[in-house]
Amino acid sequence: MNLLEGKKVAETIKEELKLKVDKIKNTSHRTPHLKAVLVGNNGASLTYVNNKITACKKVGIRSTLTQFESDITENSLLEEIKKINEDNDIDGYIVQLPLPKHIDEQKVINEISPQKDVDGFHPSNFGKMALGMPTFIPATPLGIIELLDRYKIDTSSKQCVVLGRSHIVGRPISILMSQKGKNSTVTVAHSKTTNLQELTKQADIIISALGIPEFIKDDMVKEGVVVIDVGITRVTDKTKLKGYSLKGDVDFEAVSKKASYITPVPGGVGPMTIVMLLYNTIRAWELNQKSNA
Ligand code: NAP
Repeated sequence: MNLLEGKKVAETIKEELKLKVDKIKNTSHRTPHLKAVLVGNNGASLTYVNNKITACKKVGIRSTLTQFESDITENSLLEEIKKINEDNDIDGYIVQLPLPKHIDEQKVINEISPQKDVDGFHPSNFGKMALGMPTFIPATPLGIIELLDRYKIDTSSKQCVVLGRSHIVGRPISILMSQKGKNSTVTVAHSKTTNLQELTKQADIIISALGIPEFIKDDMVKEGVVVIDVGITRVTDKTKLKGYSLKGDVDFEAVSKKASYITPVPGGVGPMTIVMLLYNTIRAWELNQKSNA
């Protein structure tokens, strides 16, 4: 078994991006700027946002956080989004999901300027991604592709089973894996799939984005499978200072004995997601430079 060490790869990419940002700083009066918008005080969301801000600092990207109370109205939030769209000093921004129940997430995503949509969630960017056109690709799927590439994993003509069909992970990674370049034959499974074990047992590559801790057991996979575990769930753990530990969708202990390659949780897909957001931010800076030239 070989570990797909996202954490290590992400550190290498950060060094590469830092060199790029250093060059930008030497030649331009403006540093790339990422804004994070956070609504409410969800603990996990705050952790994710802080991790993104820390990573920005490491590569020299300027980052700011704008936080709103959880009872902000949908209209007020949309107005704030418009202001960010018009602020030339901000190259890219993310609206940390999930949003409170009274706010329509899709409405908010639709309002984000596609040029600043470094999460790649806007329908116009998602559409371009599906068509294989240059655009912002959502950071988690982009991170998975980068991880596979850096480990030179052959995906061509392989059977790839994607578990989950969310707009941020399952759906986009299934599209990317089936496109020219990756050339996998992709099956997308979801909660209404009935013959899951039959599918996963035939898979050369499993990409799991369910959010169900240790759902995938060793009797569900074949020898030599490549496993990408996207799932991150906080599970109560009294032995930990924080009171919880992070679990992936895969029973790592058992499945790793059969896998040829497998991502750990934590330290696999998570760090890759963050670093690809930084990559997208630098691209947004480049776009911003061009449109202001
Ligand atoms: P989500 O929107 O909740 O989607 C979960 C998907 O799993 C849905 O498509 C659902 O099917 C499917 N599903 C649920 N139960 C199933 C079952 N028994 N069998 C087959 N499919 C089932 O989740 P998400 O936002 O994609 O995130 C998934 C996980 O990845 C979470 O743990 C999240 O924290 C993690 N995540 C990690 C990163 C990272 O950077 N590592 C980034 C994003 C997300 P239906 O569509 O039928 O409901």
